[in-house]
Amino acid sequence: MRLSRYFMPILKENPKEAEIVSHRLMLRAGMIRQQSQGIYSWLPLGKRVLDKVNAIIRDEQNRAGAIELSMPTLQSAELWQESGRYDAYGKEMLRIKDRQDRPMLYGPTNEEMVTDIFRSSVKSYKDLPLNLYHIQLKFRDEIRPRFGTMRSREFMMKDAYSFDLTREAAEHSYNKMFAAYLRTFDRLGLRAIPMRADTGPIGGKLSHEFIILADTGESEVFCHKDFVDFDIPGEHTDFDSVEGLQAIFDKWTSLYAATSEMHDEAAFNAVPEGDRLSARGIEVGHIFYFGTKYSEPMGAKVQGPDGKEHFVHMGSYGIGPTRLVPAIIEAWHDDNGIIWPASVAPFDIVVINMKAGDQACDDTCELIYAALTKAGKDVLYDDTDDRAGTKFATADLIGVPVQIIAGPRAVANGEVEVKDRKTGARETMTIEAAINRFVA
Ligand code: ATP
Ligand code: MG
Repeated sequence: MRLSRYFMPILKENPKEAEIVSHRLMLRAGMIRQQSQGIYSWLPLGKRVLDKVNAIIRDEQNRAGAIELSMPTLQSAELWQESGRYDAYGKEMLRIKDRQDRPMLYGPTNEEMVTDIFRSSVKSYKDLPLNLYHIQLKFRDEIRPRFGTMRSREFMMKDAYSFDLTREAAEHSYNKMFAAYLRTFDRLGLRAIPMRADTGPIGGKLSHEFIILADTGESEVFCHKDFVDFDIPGEHTDFDSVEGLQAIFDKWTSLYAATSEMHDEAAFNAVPEGDRLSARGIEVGHIFYFGTKYSEPMGAKVQGPDGKEHFVHMGSYGIGPTRLVPAIIEAWHDDNGIIWPASVAPFDIVVINMKAGDQACDDTCELIYAALTKAGKDVLYDDTDDRAGTKFATADLIGVPVQIIAGPRAVANGEVEVKDRKTGARETMTIEAAINRFVA
């Protein structure tokens, strides 16, 4: 991508409305634009990151056996009347009427709809287990939308829904998502800790919020510090192994971890003082087993091996991609801007032409840009006629992991500089060496 032809509206000044660093940097880097309170456009740079986040989420959902579909954002109120949640949901639900005066709503979540899809076509236990997910916009009319896309009214969610014949089978489905979440957040460059969450009237222990430690987080959390170094389930994790996944779950729930709603002072005090971590955190995911809460009122049942009909046991599993993007920035930034983990960076490499219009600089940059693009890299080429200082500041701000800098003096020697955004380390090398480093 040539910057001169791209759309990346950088802000020079710090936007006053931004209270936390991720919101400030997303606005400054031209990633998002607020359209009305808590409702955002994702501008091209932001969209690239969001797409990469979603690709990783999707990859890990698929690996764990979940199946993608796409459900609409607008839902009929009837479904919610069936489950009894239409009245219970309250003001967070945006209610709409269509031209026939039929009550509709902008979905805040999809349990009812997916249960409807399930009941209309699945009739036998032989079709289970089943886990359906989509990555879709949601709307919740939050009282206090804030911090940009961290807590917005319209936001994106990956929401998965599992269906099983028995509670035991549903636990295995839960453990699959548990392990998939550990892998997902790790690949996004984050350390997320599963913490016991409220199960409300359902009861039981199967509800976990995945929390990233961050000073700007809205949740107050308490956990054992060893979680920070726990091993993440590997790429070859067997998601069909009941024991294997149970062992992962047991390990990751063996130490104390709870948000303030579930906090048990006495249990926390039993953790050796030096191992206690009391911090703030951002909730990036939430998994929940809720049994037959929706299948019973909505009549979602299958025939079991005993020939009888059974209401299915369900769970739901959410991740917030539009919250994850700022959460990643909270974890990865410095005074100059964002430092993207390579897995979600909007571009892999930025080529900076320090003197656009200078034949040697132009030729060198074009050569590098073409070679790296051909090798399948996402390359941003800063071919604008801005001052070099402005270009460096922009490159640092938008956080692309590698900068290849072509200035007239180095280019005259057949060389360029390669800068690592994270460490700031610069290396001078031949043009060929610079290309080879990234095409290998
Ligand atoms: P919170 O306690 O932060 O309001 P929640 O418990 O209402 O979250 P869930 O219903 O469990 O959230 O939704 C699943 C995921 O969707 C959350 O873990 C979060 O990542 C994301 N999410 C929820 N609400 C918002 C929001 N207003 N803006 C952005 N992301 C959100
Ligand atoms: Mg909420």
